[in-house]
Amino acid sequence: MAAEKYSVGNVFCMGDAVHRHPPNHGLGSNTCIQDAHNLAWKVAYVEKGLAGKELLESYSDERQPVGLELVTQANTSLRNHRKMWEALGSLEKDPQSRVASLEELKEESPRGIARREKLHATLKLINREEHGLGIEMNQRYSSTAISKTGQGDPPTFDTNPLEYYHATTYPGARLPHVWLGKTIPSRYVSTIDLAGKGHFALFTGIGGHRWNTAIEEAQNSFKTPIKVHIIGYRQQWEDIYGDWAEIRGVEETGCVLVRPDYFVAWRCQSWSEGNGSELVKVLKSVLSIGV
Ligand SMILES: Cc1cc2nc3c(=O)[nH]c(=O)nc-3n(C[C@H](O)[C@H](O)[C@H](O)COP(=O)(O)OP(=O)(O)OC[C@H]3O[C@@H](n4cnc5c(N)ncnc54)[C@H](O)[C@@H]3O)c2cc1C
Repeated sequence: MAAEKYSVGNVFCMGDAVHRHPPNHGLGSNTCIQDAHNLAWKVAYVEKGLAGKELLESYSDERQPVGLELVTQANTSLRNHRKMWEALGSLEKDPQSRVASLEELKEESPRGIARREKLHATLKLINREEHGLGIEMNQRYSSTAISKTGQGDPPTFDTNPLEYYHATTYPGARLPHVWLGKTIPSRYVSTIDLAGKGHFALFTGIGGHRWNTAIEEAQNSFKTPIKVHIIGYRQQWEDIYGDWAEIRGVEETGCVLVRPDYFVAWRCQSWSEGNGSELVKVLKSVLSIGV
């Protein structure tokens, strides 16, 4: 079961209290911890006066669909296990019938072929669960704490979204992991490690230093903690494998703005004067400032 709402007024519920399901997919505690991760920075920002109280309403809007999806899939996967036991003959009523059913599986006969085909098909269903990186990573948030202004339609999934992780910087998705390095070779750092820790992170490239004026304005007028990371040839961070260029989804002077919980709040294709004030507007709206 999944609760229809995770919060009402000042009461916020999380974890198994609002989503309970069979252990299939092994995502129970992950999902509980993600709930906490989603809410923690919002509470901290409101408490510190860095965000409006309305930001807290985005918690239920973002996390309830994730819980509901997991509950639905975990139940489907449990039913798939039953199909596998059935295909193996494990659901026969007594030990003799179960042994006979297993024997049939190795028969050179139309019956044996049909049984093996059925077993193969059910194992493929289980594979979806055991290797289901997609359900673990493909969350897409929609709420007032995400700005999709000027983004167009979200990218579609070209492979099964339950099985395969689709890395994207589309607002509402997780910040993709990319290894970055320094001009003088040293230990690589992940984009994930540059984000978080109570800050917003703004990733940009050569020419993107111009976002700094808008960021200073945000920091002076409503104190949002933001760290800027410039990625590119001979910049603060080197795109050592060229993976950032492939995945960033914006031009070099564009930016990807990431929330303290590693989810993309907004992105902008390229720098222009007007986009600086757009960034300030986006931060105010994402943080429910002046609502
Ligand atoms: C068989 C099984 C296998 C699982 N496998 C996985 C897995 O592989 N991967 C995964 O991610 N998850 C797995 N899970 C799920 C995971 O264990 C749970 O989703 C997670 O532990 C729930 O965390 P929670 O903090 O929300 O709730 P809980 O861990 O249930 O914590 C709630 C706490 O509140 C306490 N409590 C209750 N009532 C009160 C009260 N009135 N006053 C004070 N305290 C109270 C309880 O004693 C408990 O300590 C599995 C679960 C099961 C049952």
